[in-house]
Amino acid sequence: MTFDVNKIRKDFPALEQKVYGKELVYFDNAATTLKPSVVIERLSNFYKKENSNVHRGVHFLSQEATTAMENARQYIKEFIGASSTSEIIFTKGTTESINLVASSFGKKFIEKGDEIIVSELEHHANIIPWQLLCEEKEAILKVIPVDDAGELDMEAYKNLITSRTKIVAVAHISNALGTINPIVKIIEIAHHRNVPVLIDGAQGISHKSVNVSILDCDFYAFSGHKIFAPMGIGVLYGKEKLLNEMPPYQSGGEMIKEVSFEKTTFNELPFKFEAGTPNVGGILALESALKYIKNIGIDVIESYEHELLTYATAQLKNMPEINIIGNASNKSSLISFVIKGVHHYDAGTILDKLGIAVRTGHHCAQPIMTRFGIDGTLRISFAFYNTKEEINIFVDALKTVIKMFL
Ligand code: PMP
Repeated sequence: MTFDVNKIRKDFPALEQKVYGKELVYFDNAATTLKPSVVIERLSNFYKKENSNVHRGVHFLSQEATTAMENARQYIKEFIGASSTSEIIFTKGTTESINLVASSFGKKFIEKGDEIIVSELEHHANIIPWQLLCEEKEAILKVIPVDDAGELDMEAYKNLITSRTKIVAVAHISNALGTINPIVKIIEIAHHRNVPVLIDGAQGISHKSVNVSILDCDFYAFSGHKIFAPMGIGVLYGKEKLLNEMPPYQSGGEMIKEVSFEKTTFNELPFKFEAGTPNVGGILALESALKYIKNIGIDVIESYEHELLTYATAQLKNMPEINIIGNASNKSSLISFVIKGVHHYDAGTILDKLGIAVRTGHHCAQPIMTRFGIDGTLRISFAFYNTKEEINIFVDALKTVIKMFL
């Protein structure tokens, strides 16, 4: 398929609107992506016509919804290259996926004095669940340091692994700096010491082609809303062998086989980890989003977004007032920066009034902000529907901001 950004933009109704009378420039894709019409229609159609609970109904709609949901699971399994649908657990999103692993894997495998490794650039969602687990189990949280470019110190990482290391949990791509972590190497090093690895794929899934079998990661977590699907639906991929050994995370309906007051037996995978009514509409819309992406081609997306990154980075580097935070050699289409002498919040507020949606603050990654001695940044993050023209508008607006304050 040839990439025609103007044609693609028509798929996203949110791009048609103006804010404060200005054309919307949406550069907050790392927070959440816009949704194409096919996804919105899929969700709407589910509630219009197919609405029904799954897995326990004898009636037509329930059976149709169950089949559609399980077909979606099959599609997602193929999209990320898992070996079986047993390995695809539906969650609310990355946060819940990581909490599931920290809670369930933690219950089974973490003991007093054990060690868990995360990195300095993690989102809070990949820090706090491990921190709470460490508190509960009297385990130790170890942190891979980040260098001045925003890259993980791989030598330090190797040295952090000991015979007490029970799991490594790192981001595929940093939401705060844009660094694409060398996850293949990270997994290889951990596996050499028989340590499983969880990849926080919240930012990875929409920018890189992901094949969990080739990566050989033990867990991969992602959110639908960061890949053009609705909010409130996400996925945890886990290796079947590990998931089978792990106890249930939440309990209730759907996740059981037999219940009596004396004893309950649990359902098989993946249902063991899916207590309660699932987000069926969200699951079907996620399938639509992944099909939409696949049709464009994730490699096509990656190379177009890289063009946007290179173009925007060059312009920002030309502005002496701007300091880019995170200059990793391998970066996704996201730029975090500070304007010397201007608070990020003030700058973000003016940009907003000019129709440009950016993110300001610590991006739920306070430790990496502390590492760089700042309390926050301005962040622009691109999706494949963004354009160089939008970057030009943004750069002009940024010059206006700088003139106002300096
Ligand atoms: N990890 C990373 C790297 C993220 O960027 C985010 C979302 N900003 C999360 C985890 C949490 O995702 P969610 O809020 O969708 O659960």
